[in-house]
Amino acid sequence: MIITLKKDAPKGEVEKLIGGIEAKGLSTNLIEGASYNVFGVVGDTTILDEKVIAANPVVDNVVRVAAPYKKANRVFHPADSVIHVGGIPVGGQEDVVVIGGPCSVETEEGLLEIAEGVRDAGGRMLRGGAYKPRTSPYAFQGQGSVGIQWMAEARQRYGLPIVSELMSVEKLEEFDQNVDLIQVGARNMQNFDLLKALGSTRKPVLLKRGLANTIEEWLMAAEYIMAGGNDNVILCERGIRTFEKYTRNTLDLSVVPIVKQKSHLPIIIDPSHATGDWRLVESMSLAAIAAGADGLIVEVHNNPECAWSDGSQSLKPDRFKTMIKKGRVIANVVGRGM
Ligand code: PEP
Ligand code: MN
Repeated sequence: MIITLKKDAPKGEVEKLIGGIEAKGLSTNLIEGASYNVFGVVGDTTILDEKVIAANPVVDNVVRVAAPYKKANRVFHPADSVIHVGGIPVGGQEDVVVIGGPCSVETEEGLLEIAEGVRDAGGRMLRGGAYKPRTSPYAFQGQGSVGIQWMAEARQRYGLPIVSELMSVEKLEEFDQNVDLIQVGARNMQNFDLLKALGSTRKPVLLKRGLANTIEEWLMAAEYIMAGGNDNVILCERGIRTFEKYTRNTLDLSVVPIVKQKSHLPIIIDPSHATGDWRLVESMSLAAIAAGADGLIVEVHNNPECAWSDGSQSLKPDRFKTMIKKGRVIANVVGRGM
């Protein structure tokens, strides 16, 4: 961190500021210049809040050199993290993992049919929301607990680990006991109480990027979970809000190489929520694999026209199967299996 001081800053005030920083175990180096005095702070600067330092009247400017996240930072963990979800490795040079399933768990029978289709197509995990974050309070809110039980039944029958979204801390125990990969939805990416609670488990967490969040904010959300002791975080890009209206969101595929550079955590892509249109899902899936994504999470439904949520972006199992077949070719090109 580089702190530029006002030239006329009273010596006593500067000493107080430096003393406060050094008391936190950091070291400082002062460079006296003609018009400004600058000092560099070295050590674990993630514990400093640059806004608090900038508020000091003797400070002219503060520049953070190192990223504010530590556990999620590749600098402190050069090797790729591989997260195991129900025995399936995600990340590093492991196979690209495809997760498929309905947006919402609707009926037991319907879910089991979709799960069979996902497995037969080459999907490795089953997704399905039982608690749904819907924009309208009048829309279907999910089947709740029984939906989780049906997901567990589908896992048992088809051997697919299950992924489902947790919306509140109250349900953490239910998810910890029943779900293999706990999803934090885009709308909850900065629900810090939820993130802290997830830090206390050891269950893998699928952390979606918020609707309008920067990569740094997203990595800081991962840091919340990891700071609590849970290193099992998988990131998921699901499109961000832009001015564009032809797609539901704008898929920011550049995050794949950026996240790989900044962090060691695996990253997967959700082309369904990113586009909102099943016609765009295959091409964005192939592009995501080419960009180096560690996996995909895709909405699949046997009868999308009648789906209780997100039918317009759901693939039928046969199209999902075609997508996986093509995806394998791209995965091989980038040196991965799928
Ligand atoms: C979902 O996965 O069904 C979902 C609600 O996703 P997101 O949080 O990305 O909108
Ligand atoms: Mn959905």
